[in-house]
Amino acid sequence: MSIRKIAVLTSGGDAPGMNAAIRSVVRTALSKGVEAFGVYRGYNGLINGDIEPMNLRSVSDIIHRGGTMLYTARSPEFRTEEGMQKAIANCRKMGIDGVVVIGGDGSFRGAQDLTRRGLPCIGIPGTIDNDISCCEYTIGFDTAMNTCVEMVDKLRDTAQSHDRCSVVEVMGRRAGYLALNVGIAVGATSIIVPEVPYDFERDIVQRMETTFSTGKKHFIVVVAEGVGHVIEMAKEIEERTGIESRATILGHVQRGGSPTLRDRLLASEMGYNAVELLLQGKSNRVVAVQSGSIVDFDIEEALQMKKPFDFDLYKMAHEISI
Ligand code: ADP
Repeated sequence: MSIRKIAVLTSGGDAPGMNAAIRSVVRTALSKGVEAFGVYRGYNGLINGDIEPMNLRSVSDIIHRGGTMLYTARSPEFRTEEGMQKAIANCRKMGIDGVVVIGGDGSFRGAQDLTRRGLPCIGIPGTIDNDISCCEYTIGFDTAMNTCVEMVDKLRDTAQSHDRCSVVEVMGRRAGYLALNVGIAVGATSIIVPEVPYDFERDIVQRMETTFSTGKKHFIVVVAEGVGHVIEMAKEIEERTGIESRATILGHVQRGGSPTLRDRLLASEMGYNAVELLLQGKSNRVVAVQSGSIVDFDIEEALQMKKPFDFDLYKMAHEISI
């Protein structure tokens, strides 16, 4: 089947760089003589027919913007057979014969369901958590890491001035990639991630005491959201060490902001590749980065993969932050 009309949507949590990916999908399609459509608010837009044709100028002036111009949503209705059939019927009505889905694992499961029902889909990983197993770097991860570093550097200034400990929660419910990388970049005394069980006494108190004995008086502890409890943790640190401690939950600032060069470049390459795959007659694939190159995997295979946590990097982080 030749592909004449392609739609693009963003789904699940937003990530900086999604706009650059949308732009790339639309421009690539148009440059190859394929019509492009934007679907608003994820799978909800497919169900409600909230789909609009895109031209070259529809995606002007968005490459540097965070968020997603197509908006994003979680769509419980799409997970029902009825919702999915409505989505397919709308695409058929408009003659859309391929969809590029920018999102995370949940969104890829949706893409797989659509493909199985006869609508070819390609996934692009967009999530600040970097928790897509088949992909070394997801769109938004680099920007989020840099935002965190900027924020924690500011906290460090004040922690240093007051001889305090700053306990910072960064995003990552099930994944500590953001916490680990940010922790290293800000020189955190302790990095607490969901992948590695921690002992409060050994991994926080004793580390702070050892460092204190060498003359350091301010500390940063980076904690992944999945471990949580930073407010209680700060209280306990203060009680145990006598060092005044403050908790900060960085929260949604981590999702926003102008995407970094790396995220814009990655998004542009992934968008281009996603359209190429559809035009080659491929479907049910997710575009990914492996060893710095753009590759693609079957969605089913990608969802089964496991991303190993970098324990060597974790070990290194703690060896050099004393
Ligand atoms: P993410 O894509 O960031 O992992 P979610 O898990 O919230 O985010 O998924 C986004 C949307 O994808 C959901 O609201 C739903 O519409 C769709 N989705 C998620 N899981 C499935 C599934 N198992 N089958 C079909 N669609 C799904």
